[in-house]
Amino acid sequence: VLRIEKLKKSFGSREVLRQIDLEVAPGEVVCLIGSSGSGKSTLLRCINLLEQPTGGAIYFKDQNILADQVDQNQYCTKVGMVFQQFNLFNNMSVLKNCTYAQVKALGRSEQEAEETAKKYLRQVGMIEFANALPRQLSGGQKQRVAIARALSMDPEVVLFDEPTSALDPEMVDDVLAIMKDLAGSGLTMIVVTHEMNFARDVADRIVFMNEGIILESGTPDQLFENPQHDRTREFLARAA
Ligand code: ATP
Ligand code: MG
Repeated sequence: VLRIEKLKKSFGSREVLRQIDLEVAPGEVVCLIGSSGSGKSTLLRCINLLEQPTGGAIYFKDQNILADQVDQNQYCTKVGMVFQQFNLFNNMSVLKNCTYAQVKALGRSEQEAEETAKKYLRQVGMIEFANALPRQLSGGQKQRVAIARALSMDPEVVLFDEPTSALDPEMVDDVLAIMKDLAGSGLTMIVVTHEMNFARDVADRIVFMNEGIILESGTPDQLFENPQHDRTREFLARAA
């Protein structure tokens, strides 16, 4: 579904992403790992155009969405995002959080949007909180709603940026279990995570980023059992 070629991003004179090449097949689960500041979040934010890349191409179904005449809004509706800090609309109910963009950006009717939202709220175990406000929820519950909100758009790819890093330890496993189910259901996912057990268990491919480049990538076995670079070994030793 996605093919990223020679993607670059600079902030002023600081090059944060340098020549990123990454291809993601339908149904694939790619885990992005790497130390703080290596550019993982910036890469996700470039993929969903929260940041404008400064070079390279992003092909979505063989169309370069950075080309001039392309409808980027339509592309953005197909790429879901789940953030570390949830980013729910705090003044809207759980249900409204999940219907709002469906109506606004996809033009669905309220009724269709509610049916879709409820399906996914049920899937993440949050249907009984449909009328609650985000502030009434725990962190883990908020993240489950954020996942349902992303899924409600029926995206082709969902990006997760450290979805469990802001959670109390007892909530982490719930959210990881939901993500594992999603991976098993064939959803295409790119997941930035420090949860190495999850990455090893669920990823089809692990990508190790270092200083704005992809230093190496491979299956979990290849990357964890037989890393090719000292830098990767050091990172894994510290993460273990
Ligand atoms: P972490 O694991 O801490 O989340 P990361 O791998 O996600 O790190 P990024 O957030 O992508 O790293 O940041 C990569 C580099 O880009 C950092 O040096 C950061 O300071 C810089 N950076 C990110 N966003 C901006 C911005 N809006 N303006 C200037 N510099 C930025
Ligand atoms: Mg980050």
